Amino acid sequence: MLYESVIIVPRDEVVRLQAILDRASGSYMMDDEVVETFTAKFPNSPCEVDIKVVDADPPYVDPVLFNRVGVQVGCLDVADTLCGKYVFTVGEDTFSVVVRELDPRESPLLEVSFGGGDLLFRGERGGGFCMVSQFDRATCPSCGVADCVNDCDGSQGADEADFREEFDAVNRQRYNAGLSTVESLVLSLVCSGVLTESESPQVNEAIQSCLDAIGHQFLG
Ligand SMILES: [Zn+2]
Repeated sequence: MLYESVIIVPRDEVVRLQAILDRASGSYMMDDEVVETFTAKFPNSPCEVDIKVVDADPPYVDPVLFNRVGVQVGCLDVADTLCGKYVFTVGEDTFSVVVRELDPRESPLLEVSFGGGDLLFRGERGGGFCMVSQFDRATCPSCGVADCVNDCDGSQGADEADFREEFDAVNRQRYNAGLSTVESLVLSLVCSGVLTESESPQVNEAIQSCLDAIGHQFLG
């Protein structure tokens, strides 16, 4: 499956960071120093990509893919320019992140939010939007990880693998999948320009109805 995300960086930020990258040598007397980290999230995957600008000798861009529990599962060759396309392939899955410059004179960065800012998208009209903030997931009461289905040892006393706990764990996954579905739908409508108004009352009401239905169905 293909997962795509866009990181839009203001022009002056690109210029500042690229000036660091363009130095022939960095601060070689010190350890490598991370100057900036951009994180790409994907609307339909818990994986994240960090694009790090590192001051070193020479300076470089370090793209890294993390899985849902923050373990590094992919990395690419380092790059010497920030803007560009970073593509990770893990098994059957491809994660594509485009980092591009925003010119404030040409197209202002738009933010569209719903649910009092719980769901926040940032991007350009007619361009790509990425999800900056998503709905809170139901998490395992033991380890706090959203995708845990009795994966952890339950050492904090929950999920002790009896029938009730197994049932709760599976329903948490169903609930979280429901949230992802709503987010994907709203993201698609924002990207296509159908939804442009933040906090539109009718849209918020519709989203809240979906969340209530999902919560009622799976969390009781
Ligand atoms: Zn757990």
